[in-house]
Amino acid sequence: MTFSNDANLKQHAGCKIIRAHTPPYKSNGIALACALQTAVWLVRKKEKPIIVLWMGNDLPARDVLESAMSVDLVDHLLGEGHCAADGVQFNLIDTTKLVTYEHETIVALGTSVLELEASQVLDTAGALIFVPLGERDLKAYMRLAPDSNRISWKEEEQSRELGFARTSVLQQKLSWYRQFYKVVASDTFGGENSSRYVPHDGTGRCRYCGNSPPDATFRWKSHAFPEQIGNKMLVDLAECDACNRHFGDMLDDDFAKWTQPWRSVFRVAGRKGIPTSKSGDGKMRVQADDVTHLKLYVSSIGESGLIESGENRIHLRVERQAYVPMAAYKCIVKMALAVMPADYASECEHLKKWILEKSHTFESYKFKPLSVWLQFVPVQTLNGSITYAVLRRTDSASRVPYLIFVLQFSHLHLQIALPMHEQDKALCDGKLFEIMPFPHIGGLAEVEAKFGRSEVRTVDLSGVERVKGEIETIPFKYEQRVELPNNSKRLGPTVSPC
Ligand SMILES: [Zn+2]
Repeated sequence: MTFSNDANLKQHAGCKIIRAHTPPYKSNGIALACALQTAVWLVRKKEKPIIVLWMGNDLPARDVLESAMSVDLVDHLLGEGHCAADGVQFNLIDTTKLVTYEHETIVALGTSVLELEASQVLDTAGALIFVPLGERDLKAYMRLAPDSNRISWKEEEQSRELGFARTSVLQQKLSWYRQFYKVVASDTFGGENSSRYVPHDGTGRCRYCGNSPPDATFRWKSHAFPEQIGNKMLVDLAECDACNRHFGDMLDDDFAKWTQPWRSVFRVAGRKGIPTSKSGDGKMRVQADDVTHLKLYVSSIGESGLIESGENRIHLRVERQAYVPMAAYKCIVKMALAVMPADYASECEHLKKWILEKSHTFESYKFKPLSVWLQFVPVQTLNGSITYAVLRRTDSASRVPYLIFVLQFSHLHLQIALPMHEQDKALCDGKLFEIMPFPHIGGLAEVEAKFGRSEVRTVDLSGVERVKGEIETIPFKYEQRVELPNNSKRLGPTVSPC
């Protein structure tokens, strides 16, 4: 979508305030998103950038806001009445308080034109951006403010709108998470060159072992998430060298082997580039020289490593290198702890101790099963970016896990419930427990129509013995296939799991 606010919103002769409007609001949130972007653009020049959101009383505020803002921002906005993003503060108000917001920048959605008139914001606000609910509201508003600037965006046609529609399954997942969880930490990063740092308590102590200088040194650059998943920039200043070495030796390598088949096929570039994988019999090799094309080297047609499963669809069966499941699981726990806000990190002391163990046994911590929910997302994250979120249960009586960590890199989406034996006693006692696969972009109607419904797999990583010769089957769809000399095939330009 290309968005334009005509970049030169006019203040009209005889009128001190800027007035603008979007086309009527539709539940996909584009109109609201464009209004907010315009407002952000307007307030950026101000010393105190504040945007006042005025929502009509009849609107389902949460649904409307979430169509244009992230869930954690909306949580904050509805809970506290305000939230901040990128240095801009958003205040949510109701009509009765509006008189105190003179000279402010107001985004009004779902308010009737009568309310606008009565509140006099058209004359007192610094700027007013009106998002009408329907054509009738727009017409009434234009009679009131004929000189208002029109905010528009391209690609308004019908087919685009399908792309933003949520399937009922996606809607169900969103409602479930909304009911039971709040996001306590989340970020998307990557594709940039500069480092960014995970928050730490500033005490100079290592977040895992608790040591501080001179008992601990902090000379090495510790990556909060392993570099193999494409993390080049998220750095942890509160991970000491000894813990860094321990994680490198005891966790990262097993996680790397467990994820290698996916990293090969989805072309995730780590420190050593994109890894190569082979089929169990060694007759097929999966290799990618760049992120757009995947090369398959096969020694004869009809290899067991490569199964045609329909038009432009293929199953690859690649062998995983030997790994210890529990170690791979602990690596995911380690990532969650790296980004865990301080309030909850203190409840996770047992997990820090567990991941610092010198061996992988159930004697040290008896929590079982160590499950990972795995989803393939058909649409790749942008520029190799990585997304994570930590979610905490809102209602202690709910039969859902206390802390959830989700991580997406490339097409791979991983989700765990952190082992919290005290808060999740019901889970440990084998009582009925509920978990929902985390919603992702594959649930949009357009994506699902193209790639089919994204499946969820539960993988049990409870094992403490080294697993050898495990075969991973990855179904995917490609756009073009070129047979190369010497029995190799090249798939491209887009290759996505299906
Ligand atoms: Zn340490």
